[in-house]
Amino acid sequence: MRYILEELKEAKTIGIAGHVRPDGDCIGSCMALYHYLKNNLPDETIIDLYLETIPDKLSVVPGTDLIKHEFHNERQYDIFISLDSSSIDRLGFAMDAFQKSVNTINIDHHISNTNFAKINHVVDYASSTCEVLYDLFEDDKIDITIATALYLGIIHDTGVFKHSNTTEKTMNIAGKLISKGVPFSRMIDETFYLKSYVQNQLLGRCLLESILVLGGKCIVSSINKKMLEFYDASSGDLDGIIDQLRVTDGIEVAIFVYETNFHEYKVSMRANGFVDVRKVAAYFGGGGHIKAAGCTMQGSLHDVINNLLIHIEHQLTNNGME
Ligand code: AMP
Ligand code: MN
Ligand code: MN
Repeated sequence: MRYILEELKEAKTIGIAGHVRPDGDCIGSCMALYHYLKNNLPDETIIDLYLETIPDKLSVVPGTDLIKHEFHNERQYDIFISLDSSSIDRLGFAMDAFQKSVNTINIDHHISNTNFAKINHVVDYASSTCEVLYDLFEDDKIDITIATALYLGIIHDTGVFKHSNTTEKTMNIAGKLISKGVPFSRMIDETFYLKSYVQNQLLGRCLLESILVLGGKCIVSSINKKMLEFYDASSGDLDGIIDQLRVTDGIEVAIFVYETNFHEYKVSMRANGFVDVRKVAAYFGGGGHIKAAGCTMQGSLHDVINNLLIHIEHQLTNNGME
């Protein structure tokens, strides 16, 4: 695929969706594509965007009020585009709409992508889906709204240009985007660093209760449902906890889990060195990237952590060479 518009010339109805529990890259890529198509396709083209509820602080791109939060099975789209989703089930409630569509496109950057669409455009060395999308857009058609959306995705998936997925190309694209007027200082503070009081309390609690295992090479922390209810917090309020755990001195792997249902945990893992956490997540049905991956696991907290540690210890003792 060279330019996205070439694939969509004939389409009269287009659906777009990103993954469950949308993050900055998911929201940024969905909003950027939505505005790009609205600006460049005929007025009568129907374009619908599906996403789960998005955190307030990530609603910085205009038009998030147009997002549809449910799909009523009535429409069959000419083309449906999945963004930032490594497998079809990651689309959540929008999976039905995707499966019913005549044509499907999958645009992503996860190495674990299962190529589930008719057209698959997966660039696994790209920092973010927004970086992939930038190359599918014509630069002169990118206005400040689209630039803001793309910039949002790039800063969130690179941890503001510090993760190892940041490349010269990432920086060049970011440079092009800021030349269009993206209010980057404010965006980075308000969407990335800003925390509510409750978020800070949860972060503090998780740091306080974290434990070191595997001879200090692994840090583990967790939060249960009761605690989330006590703070009236949602999963979005836990963003960033894993990143703070990761920057503990001497750590190879950080694990953060939170209870989603009785005996069900959402697992986040981050690696500093040679451990491939995507491999661990994939073993338990999840996915992600070599240094940032996740999965959902069943069982008691004790069993979930132990099962993860067996795999991490195995990689540590084999020096990442297996
Ligand atoms: P997280 O720890 O949730 O921030 O996720 C880290 C990375 O792993 C992201 O790139 C996610 O897309 C991916 N990921 C997280 N959970 C899952 C899952 N259940 N299945 C596949 N990929 C996941
Ligand atoms: Mn994402
Ligand atoms: Mn992404």
